Amino acid sequence: MAKELIVIALGGNAFIQKDQKPTIENQWTNTYAAASQIVEMVARGYRVVVTHGNGPQVGNVLEWMEALKERIPPLTMDVATAMTQGWLGYMLQQAIGNELERRGYPRKVVAIINQVEVSPDDPAFREPTKYIGPYYTDERVVQRLIHEKGWAMKRDPRGGWRRVVPSPDPISNVEIDVVRKLVEEGFIVIASGGGGVPVVRENGGLRGIEAVIDKDLAGEKLATSIGADRLIILTDVEGVYLDYDKPSRRLLRRLTLSEAEDLYFNKKAFPPGSMGPKVLACIRFLRNGGRIAAIGHLYRAIDVLEGKSGTTITI
Ligand code: ADP
Ligand code: MG
Repeated sequence: MAKELIVIALGGNAFIQKDQKPTIENQWTNTYAAASQIVEMVARGYRVVVTHGNGPQVGNVLEWMEALKERIPPLTMDVATAMTQGWLGYMLQQAIGNELERRGYPRKVVAIINQVEVSPDDPAFREPTKYIGPYYTDERVVQRLIHEKGWAMKRDPRGGWRRVVPSPDPISNVEIDVVRKLVEEGFIVIASGGGGVPVVRENGGLRGIEAVIDKDLAGEKLATSIGADRLIILTDVEGVYLDYDKPSRRLLRRLTLSEAEDLYFNKKAFPPGSMGPKVLACIRFLRNGGRIAAIGHLYRAIDVLEGKSGTTITI
């Protein structure tokens, strides 16, 4: 029997957490924590494709560009996402490679630069929802950023204010054939990083645009297009909660597809820009032929895979 194929989606917060100093040492430590769990999945007989977020990192890149704009002409948001694919893809590729080698497996892991097509008419361009960059707590600073830089700012459910940018719905992964080929050849592929570089089709070609695609929705497209059995979304909370911001909050351990759809579409139980797209990604994955979808904590990846932790959604 062919080995089960799983797509693991790592939060951008997997590399650097809210209250951590964003030093490169901390980023490596976090990357190795993720890498060792991924290699443990390989050891347990799974084939793995990895995707990752880039919210904190792409926000940093945009800030560097802004701060240095008098000296170095700023680049664009699509290029900033490609930079984070290189940055985080490299770190994951090296850490997973080292873990593979340490445990006696062939070093077959590769990160690819990936474009994802979106529609230029996506309504998301009118209402930004995707959180990027640092957290701001001083309301005066927030007001100044809104007025001076023209940023859209929103409260992050973690606390504090963050910049939000348009997050159009992914249509298709442009390099999917390469991903499929590499998976067939036995590689762990790191793909669709940061949700992929958003591109639109025009005049018979592709062009990058100013947006950041949600990595979970892009991860679903990736998972569905390679015929993955499971989609596992790892983040910084135990799973999907009902009434997340109320004292009555409750962790949902198991959901059927129709229960998830009722909560998402009818009850509108999950906010955009964070838990909403994760639940929607799971719904779409199961609707598109996936077997199991799960959302759980990064530090409990193996337990989430085994259904012992997190929220598991099935048909
Ligand atoms: P990631 O980088 O992993 O994609 P996100 O910020 O997009 O992280 O999503 C995870 C965050 O979603 C959590 O840190 C939490 O603050 C927020 N969240 C909002 N609603 C819920 C909910 N109903 N259950 C769990 N987490 C929620
Ligand atoms: Mg997210």
